[in-house]
Amino acid sequence: MPYSSWFQCIDPECPERMALTEIVYTCPSCDDLLMVAHDVDALKNRSGAAWMRLFDDRYMTTQFPYGSGVWGKKEWVYPQIDDANIVSTYEGGSNLFQAIRFGEMIGVEDLWIKQSGNSHTGSFKDLGMTVLVSAVQQMIHEGADIRAVICASTGDTSAAVAAYCATAGIPSVVLLPKDKVTTSQLVQPLANNALTLALDTDFDGCMEVVKLLSEDKRFYLANSINPLRIEGQKTISIEIVQQDDWQTPDWVIVPSGNLGNITAIGLGFQMMHELGLINKLPRLVAAQAAAAAPLYDSYKTGFKEYSPVHAHGTQATAIQIGNPVSAPRAIPILQEFDGVVEQATEDELSQAAALADSTGLFACPQTGVALAALMKLAERSVISPEERVVVISTANGLKFPDFKTGYHSETLPEVTAKLANKPVELPGDYHAVAEAITKHAG
Ligand SMILES: *Cc1c(COP(=O)(O)O)cnc(C)c1O
Ligand SMILES: [Zn+2]
Repeated sequence: MPYSSWFQCIDPECPERMALTEIVYTCPSCDDLLMVAHDVDALKNRSGAAWMRLFDDRYMTTQFPYGSGVWGKKEWVYPQIDDANIVSTYEGGSNLFQAIRFGEMIGVEDLWIKQSGNSHTGSFKDLGMTVLVSAVQQMIHEGADIRAVICASTGDTSAAVAAYCATAGIPSVVLLPKDKVTTSQLVQPLANNALTLALDTDFDGCMEVVKLLSEDKRFYLANSINPLRIEGQKTISIEIVQQDDWQTPDWVIVPSGNLGNITAIGLGFQMMHELGLINKLPRLVAAQAAAAAPLYDSYKTGFKEYSPVHAHGTQATAIQIGNPVSAPRAIPILQEFDGVVEQATEDELSQAAALADSTGLFACPQTGVALAALMKLAERSVISPEERVVVISTANGLKFPDFKTGYHSETLPEVTAKLANKPVELPGDYHAVAEAITKHAG
């Protein structure tokens, strides 16, 4: 195998490098975050056109593991892993479609939605978790004494950890903030037989505990401080471009909490640019809930200042994060991509999701944040009507039933549900039904 990748410190001055099978989450010399680096010179032995052909040949085939949207790009993700250790549910390959009616309503005609939540566990977290759990499988096969994969979660990471570990037969432990994840998200790790711990704290509190636990190397940490996840999520951008005949959009809008995904999406575009698959970069938008928007605050200072905040309650629970671990990775990416950070209130995110739903979507609250950010940027003409925009839909709306029922029963706090649509209760009687229909559509 001519290709290779390794952990490297994010400080370009620091020489630390480690194998991807080392159990390490921060730089041993300076404690900075780690990134996965690739032997880009080796990857350049294939032309951009040849990479595109290879990726197209593999896309959505049944050939293990290359039919997976992640492993179809194996050389760019984790080239030296043994195929036998790959733990995959054929993640990726999610639909990218043009939201024509919604785009017309908000004056963004060339609007596309990448449905990353149409996935094995219902969120894009699968894309990173297949890489992380495969790496763990490789470590175990090389003799590492790993007893469990552990994570703190706002609900979707734990679902992915539990599912991929169960697929591989590796024990998993998930720490959730009690009463802050949805019922659907809670039953996912339970069903997949994870030890599920509901802690009386918020996500940031769970993160502190799990970090201490991971000092014991038998408990492998699956949070996105671990850059292996970012490698898998990078394939979102490759797939977006591939699905549009290798055209680059003008904008990509990403609901952002811990800032791993926006980092990953930026890295995917960078890599395609460097390897000659595309010749321009899109602009990136990180969309945050106003209740938890430390990156937005930093953006307002031109990224000169940055400080964590206390995250307040929001419907967008998956991004209710006050101290995003990947901020030092994401800020340079946003600067390079001429990025914008926008925020959305509870009313804005709920209204945007409801409006999108009325045109056929079923947006999760995080995607609601991205759609609201899009509407605000279009309104201010930061995004112009003819530009091609891709919104990353990060989870399946079915994971968030309380958000939907709360909206339509007009019980969400801080939200005026202008598009509330309540069930009409009627006797089982033809005339009553006919009358109701005539009133609605007659
Ligand atoms: C994890 C998650 C996010 C945020 O991604 P980060 O990498 O933490 O910024 C957004 N939406 C959903 C549905 C998620 O599960
Ligand atoms: Zn270092």
